[in-house]
This record gives sequence, structure tokens and C-alpha cells, in this order.
Amino acid sequence: MKPRLVYRGLVYDEAGLRKASIVVGSNGYVQEVGESWTSFSAEVVLDHREDKHVIAFPGFIDMHVHLRDFNEAYKETVETGTRAAARGGITLIGDMPNTDPRINSYKVLLERKKLLSSKSLVDYYVYIYVPERGDEVEAMVSDPDVRGMKLHPDGMRQRYLDRALKVLAEQGKIVVVHSENPFMIDQLKTSVSEHRCYRSVEVELWGIRLVGDLISTLDLDRLRVHVTHVTNLYTYLEAKRYGFSTDTCPHYLLLDSDHYHMDTCYMKVVPPIRGSWHRTTLLELFSAGYIDILSSDHAPHGLQEKTCCPKTCPAGINGIEIMGPLMGDLYVKGVISLSRIYRALSLNPAKVLGLKRYGYFRKGYRGNITVIDLSGRTVVDPEKMAVKSKYSVYRGFVFSSSVKYTVVGGRVVYPEELSGERTARGVGEVEKG
Ligand SMILES: [Zn+2]
Repeated sequence: MKPRLVYRGLVYDEAGLRKASIVVGSNGYVQEVGESWTSFSAEVVLDHREDKHVIAFPGFIDMHVHLRDFNEAYKETVETGTRAAARGGITLIGDMPNTDPRINSYKVLLERKKLLSSKSLVDYYVYIYVPERGDEVEAMVSDPDVRGMKLHPDGMRQRYLDRALKVLAEQGKIVVVHSENPFMIDQLKTSVSEHRCYRSVEVELWGIRLVGDLISTLDLDRLRVHVTHVTNLYTYLEAKRYGFSTDTCPHYLLLDSDHYHMDTCYMKVVPPIRGSWHRTTLLELFSAGYIDILSSDHAPHGLQEKTCCPKTCPAGINGIEIMGPLMGDLYVKGVISLSRIYRALSLNPAKVLGLKRYGYFRKGYRGNITVIDLSGRTVVDPEKMAVKSKYSVYRGFVFSSSVKYTVVGGRVVYPEELSGERTARGVGEVEKG
């Protein structure tokens, strides 16, 4: 059978920058990686042999995405959210469980998987919450599309938390920690700038200590713990003290309290955007490779909700579409290396998640490719975004790079003109091969 796709041009992976042909077979897996120009014909040929600014990476992975849908389809749907992911160069997303209803029972987990398998444009896996019923812990954690559990502050109060952590450790799956201490968060409704005072850096540190102490009490040294959306140096240091992996998000690298003149709800997020010293040190930590991963924490809401009332509007920033352009931009400006892009978005997420068919251009690996054009330009215009609610805290931001193609299982899912049959899969099926 004819290969589904061939990319020819510059590629970047663990062997560094080189010229190669990546051939994706009709089964959606890499069939061949050729150092010389192979003469394959394929259904789709992306030929960039003469292009010095176009570079292909093993498909980007976003470990922290809120796709909403279910009863919150007015905020975002799996379809609009994954189309936005594709525009950002993301080929695999981790779907967060604070949906309505929440993913804390086996029944809702199965509904979620069904929805994702019929609507997602990119590969996916699911996070669960602490299961509500003790007799469902085993079945939920064992599901092949479940790669981990999200521990929100209120999860610390859940009855079956200890049992869930033990099963996660046994199965080599991860717990992703939202590091704010639930017993310190002030529940007062606060505006964007007040918000920062009620949820200080200290609140993050005590959130990590709470989880660290629980894990040592339970004697679960084997458990893989990942601290998501690190906002500052001290949180990073605390996470490393316990040996946890870390990620940060575009909004903590791009925005700080100097932007509070945009004091609409668009900047409201938890943990909050901090001062400029925190932002610049965080960017240094990220560019030097100390922070392992970049995740979007894409958290869309309805336009009405985000333009209404500063004190009651929900927290969350919808940033998945800038992931690829931002990374390319930081490279063009000399802030990060190509290796950093590869590690933060391809290799490290695959490693942290324990995935065996992602993160490399190798025969038998998933045919996911993110192609970045370093001579491109991306201007953020909410009206042109794929997200359901057309607003953005980044309105007018210009990034000196663009996503050229996003390829999932050998199918070009961005730009959409090149679309064909649906190739997106859950990681359970992909990993089985
Ligand atoms: Zn989140």
C-alpha cells in the first residue's frame, strides 16, 4: 500500500538537526526515516528540501488541556479544542478531568473516551480524578487511555486518594499535581490583581509539601509525580527537592503584573500571573532546560463569563493555539535552542508519561509530526482562532514563526485543506501498535 505521507527536509530530534525523509505508512506509524532522499511516492508529499527555515519535530505533546464539552460545550468542545490544538502544532493532548460531570466514575470515563474517539482531531489520553468509589479505582487507573490522575487541591480531601495513588504507582502512571494547598486558598471572590495576594507563592510551596509528605507517609517512592503550571523559581526548587518533574505554561512566560492594566478577566488564572521578576527568572529556568516541559493549561470559558465581572469570572486562559508559534519565536529571538523545543514539547512529555511510541522519529513510532516555519509570522487575532469562544489575552501579540503543518498518524490536520479521513487515536490503541 502507498505510504500515507512523506516529509522531506530539515528534521530535529535526539540526533540533532539534519536532513531526512520521514515516511508514514498507511497504518499511521513511521515506516522509514531516510538520511538520503528516498524515492517513495505517497498520498501526500511535503517537500521542503530547499527550505532552510522549515523544521519538522516529532509531534508536539500538550500534557495539560481542558477540552470542556459535556455540559460545558458552550465553553469549548472536543472538536473546537482539538482543532485549536492542531493550529498550535499539538498532536497529542492530555484531557483534564474537571469536566461537568467530572471524570471520577467509570461510567463517565467511558463516555469521555467515546466522545474523544469520535470527535478528536489529534491523539489523546485521559486524566481521571480521584475515583468516587473504591471498587472502581483499579478499573479506572488500568484503562489503557488513562495515563494519569489529576490532583486538584480539593482532591486532597477525597476518600480514596491513598488507594488511587498506590494503584497509579503499581502501574507506572503519573499523578499531575496542581500545587496549591487547598487549606490555604482563600475562597473569597477576588479580582485579577487581588487574586495574586490570596494565592501567593507560599500557597504553591505548601501544596507541593502536602503531596510530598503524603507520598513519603504512604511509602510510595516509585510513584511518578509531575507538578504542573509552575509559576516561579521557588515552586520549581520545591518540586525538584522532592524529585518531581515540572512544566510551566505560556502565560507565565509571557505575562506578569505589569500587564494588569489589561485588568479584565482574561488574565485571571490559577495559580495567578506573578510579578516581572518571577516571570524573567522562570523564563531563564525554562530556556536553560531546568523546567522539563511546556504545557498550555488551555482553559477556555464562554465569552460572557470572561467579559462580565472581575470578581466572579472563572479562572483560565485559552492559549493552546500559540504553543508552536511561541516556541519558534523564542528560538528566533535567541532565547531557547532547537533542542529545548524538542525536549519541552516532544521528548520530555513522552518520557514523563512513559509512552513508547512518541517522542522520536523512529521506525514503528507514531506518525505524528509538527512542522515549524521559522521565517513565518503569527499575529493573534481572536476572530480567526479555532477556539469556540473568540477572545484572547494575547490579542495583537506577534510571534516570529508559524506552524506550517500538524500531522497526526500521517494525516495533515493543520492546515485543514489537506484533511482526509480521521486518524486521531487514543494512546491505548497507539501504544498497542
Ligand atoms: Zn488546568
